[in-house]
Amino acid sequence: MRVGLRLALRVWQRVSVPLGGVLLAGCMGAAQAQPAGLPSMGSASAVELPPMLEQTLGDAIMEQGRRDPTYINDPDVSQYLAGLGRKLVAGSANPAQGIQVFAIRDPQINAFALPGGYVGIHSGLVVSSDNESQLASVVAHEIGHVLQRHVARGMTQQSQSSHLMMASVAGALLAALAGSGDLAMGVAAFGQAAAVDRQLGFSRQAEQEADRIGLEMLRKGGYDPDGMAQMFGRLMNASRLNEGMGGGSYASTHPLSIQRMSDIQNRVREAPASQHHDSDSYWYVRAKLRVLQERSSSQRDAEAALRREADTHSGVRRSAAWYGLAFAAWRQDKLQETADALGRAREGGMNSAEIAGLSVALALKQGRHPEALDQAEAASSRWPQSLGVALAKVNALSQSGQDERAVQFLNGLIGKWPDEPSLYQLRAQSYDRLGKGVDARRSMAVYYEKIGALPTAVEHLQQARAMSNDFYVQSQVDVEIRRLQEKVRSDRALLERFRK
Ligand SMILES: [Zn+2]
Repeated sequence: MRVGLRLALRVWQRVSVPLGGVLLAGCMGAAQAQPAGLPSMGSASAVELPPMLEQTLGDAIMEQGRRDPTYINDPDVSQYLAGLGRKLVAGSANPAQGIQVFAIRDPQINAFALPGGYVGIHSGLVVSSDNESQLASVVAHEIGHVLQRHVARGMTQQSQSSHLMMASVAGALLAALAGSGDLAMGVAAFGQAAAVDRQLGFSRQAEQEADRIGLEMLRKGGYDPDGMAQMFGRLMNASRLNEGMGGGSYASTHPLSIQRMSDIQNRVREAPASQHHDSDSYWYVRAKLRVLQERSSSQRDAEAALRREADTHSGVRRSAAWYGLAFAAWRQDKLQETADALGRAREGGMNSAEIAGLSVALALKQGRHPEALDQAEAASSRWPQSLGVALAKVNALSQSGQDERAVQFLNGLIGKWPDEPSLYQLRAQSYDRLGKGVDARRSMAVYYEKIGALPTAVEHLQQARAMSNDFYVQSQVDVEIRRLQEKVRSDRALLERFRK
């Protein structure tokens, strides 16, 4: 298990060649053996990426990544993975480290860490896990790399190639900060970085460090440490048998050594036994990802797998499989089938925030607005911490023409989840329908700032300023514009240092 990954690189390249491609190349190289002549990971001579620059780089990659078609922008998935990451890092030696776990659509079993505490999880990893501890073990390993600053160090090793790479990366990021939209420079930078990526690498020592730290986080987070041994064993088997479950490709980028396996097994044996009860969300999110990761041509395979789960399991696993089938029908606009499958998911008194969110969406699509609103109100009092349910309620309000109430509700949500970009976007849409153009643009500016698109955020503020006749609002907006411009300037200054 390890960071970085060729698959992620291949997938992300499609859209994010200039930034994501370059940076992932660095991470990907990390999966390979340490070549002779470069300082080892533990070497004191290795220059670390300064944390501020690392964050700037990570944010810039994510700005590109969020626009990638493989990025999974789903509130249930995002909230579940973010919570998993938070729970794990809370049990680490550095609980203050910001960790953001996100999912990309890819059936291959893989995961990767990016600069700035971002951890990407392939949908295939979640779908193929048999229990929550197995999934958590891979996430914990990646967080281990973040905490040990392996990514940051891997990118700044003192070598000619890493200087070249940093220069390329900085050049691409500067182009993005200029808001020029001209990506040619970034593409050139990518070619340059791709040529040197093989020379960057994590040592076996770094892999073992990440295993060790990951295991500790698993234990403190209440997960079953044996999940790591199980997952590792499965990947070893898969690569041996070439089962086509993605294990083979995983092994090609992540050397799975017998040594690592026995180290993990020994540590698990030494740890006190632990029984972990999988969260309900794990099962519902897993079912949802099984549907989300398939292209429409292979949707039948996902449905067949979910049917088998529904037939062979009981309780929450059965309910989650029916929920997955409901979600698959919903995506194909088969509304009656969606309703039937939701009914099966609720059999035996089962229910969940995910079921409730889909049920509200179904009622809206069928034009049953008052019922959708009632359901949304009930669900949001039962699951006040569910972002998916909250967004379903926002939709119910706005589609029922109640944008004033939607804005009020969104303001409450923003107080609770100030870093959730979609809330600002939805609020802007409601403001727009209410004819409040200045407020709409200011809210969009916050949205763009949250996703790291600073030049676009400034543009929206400038539009808001031009539209407003209110001196007080204008001076507030001016302050915001200056703050963002200052951030663009300091990011630029940070990057210029690496350009030479
Ligand atoms: Zn690793």
